[in-house]
Amino acid sequence: MSAGTRERGMNRVVVVGAGQMGSGIAQVCAAAELEVVMVDVGEELLARGLAAIERSQARLAEKGGVSAEDVLGQITTSQAVPDGAADCGIEAVTEDEAAKRAVLAELDDRLPSGAIIATNTSSIPITRLSQATRRPELFIGMHFMNPVPMLPLVEVIRGLRTSDATVEATIKLAKRLGKTPVEANDFPGFIGNRILMPMINEAVFALMEGVGTAAAIDEVMKLGMRHPLGPLSLADLIGLDTCLSVMEVMHEGLGDPKYRPCPLLRQYVEAGWLGRKTGRGFYEYAE
Ligand code: NAD
Repeated sequence: MSAGTRERGMNRVVVVGAGQMGSGIAQVCAAAELEVVMVDVGEELLARGLAAIERSQARLAEKGGVSAEDVLGQITTSQAVPDGAADCGIEAVTEDEAAKRAVLAELDDRLPSGAIIATNTSSIPITRLSQATRRPELFIGMHFMNPVPMLPLVEVIRGLRTSDATVEATIKLAKRLGKTPVEANDFPGFIGNRILMPMINEAVFALMEGVGTAAAIDEVMKLGMRHPLGPLSLADLIGLDTCLSVMEVMHEGLGDPKYRPCPLLRQYVEAGWLGRKTGRGFYEYAE
């Protein structure tokens, strides 16, 4: 990052992707008084992202947080990465390597040469994604949790070529957003998903094999293990497409058959039952 940016701190951030994660990231950046440009591929997707931010921030404002109006006042939207000044770009598009590489190359072309580019990937190696840019030393993983405004963790993942200054600036940004950064090394799934996703995948195997109903599987983990959400409800919240992609990346990257995605998970994704975001996953959701 440039010396100027380091002295001033960050002012302007471009967030690409206005889905559940991108909108949440835009929201916490705006609440921390950063100017935000939120980018997605269609007006309707951007409008949906803004509506989600408004609903979520209105609830937080009731508990003493910044008003939804103030947060929305910090956010502009665009259907392409804008040219020009931004201190950081955060990529939060679909968990698909080709899609991410295209967006990262676009950020690299359009952002100033000293700007940090962060990816919110759940599992794709940071070192590999850094090669979609010409600035691997300024490239880093910034893995927020869902729902972004509620959960304090950000995993900060350094690629092999990430500079110390980039790590420091990213940790500082995460703290400014009110988050607690935890450093992880660059292995598929990092820390969180390496541990969480095999559990979710195993819950889907248990469902497929008829060990229990979805409700029974979730109840056992909630009541018996004190998990706030059962694994199948959590999978519906995360998005079954994201869960499947993460398992595929870990299966390929770690080469161990224990990471093979459950066929039932694949079938649900093929059916378009992606969880809450499509109204149906392991459970059905009213609009
Ligand atoms: P989502 O499906 O809700 O949103 C993805 C958004 O990206 C969509 O709005 C889509 O239109 C947009 N998009 C796709 N290609 C684009 C492009 N070329 N340019 C601009 N926008 C584009 O998915 P999500 O749950 O928000 O996940 C986004 C990322 O965050 C993924 O990498 C995922 O692995 C990661 N992540 C997800 C969770 C979770 O719990 N869902 C948690 C941590 C990290």
